[in-house]
Amino acid sequence: MNERKRQQEGLPDGLATSWMLDARCRELPPAIFFPRDGAGVEVARHYCAECPVRTQCLEFALEQHIDHGVWGGASERERRRIARSRRAQNTKHRTKDRRAGSAR
Ligand code: SF4
Repeated sequence: MNERKRQQEGLPDGLATSWMLDARCRELPPAIFFPRDGAGVEVARHYCAECPVRTQCLEFALEQHIDHGVWGGASERERRRIARSRRAQNTKHRTKDRRAGSAR
């Protein structure tokens, strides 16, 4: 993720983004990571696949609820799926914890 991409997303300054210094996309045109079709997503994924900060990038996009572009090798749709899955998991754990608490 590069600075231009960050600005394009309108992200606030002051976020923990030191990992971005190691981003493979730093020297690439941001447009690559805002593809218009599935073929473009595959091109972006190709770059992300070998990026040393892929995990941080994906978590950042999930935490910041970034809707557009490929981040951490995941498209918008994939990130929505991951977020939904995590919410379902959290709900399941909370329900389980609540039940365990009331059984005491
Ligand atoms: S994972 Fe992809 S979008 Fe994220 S920093 Fe690396 S190259 Fe850029």
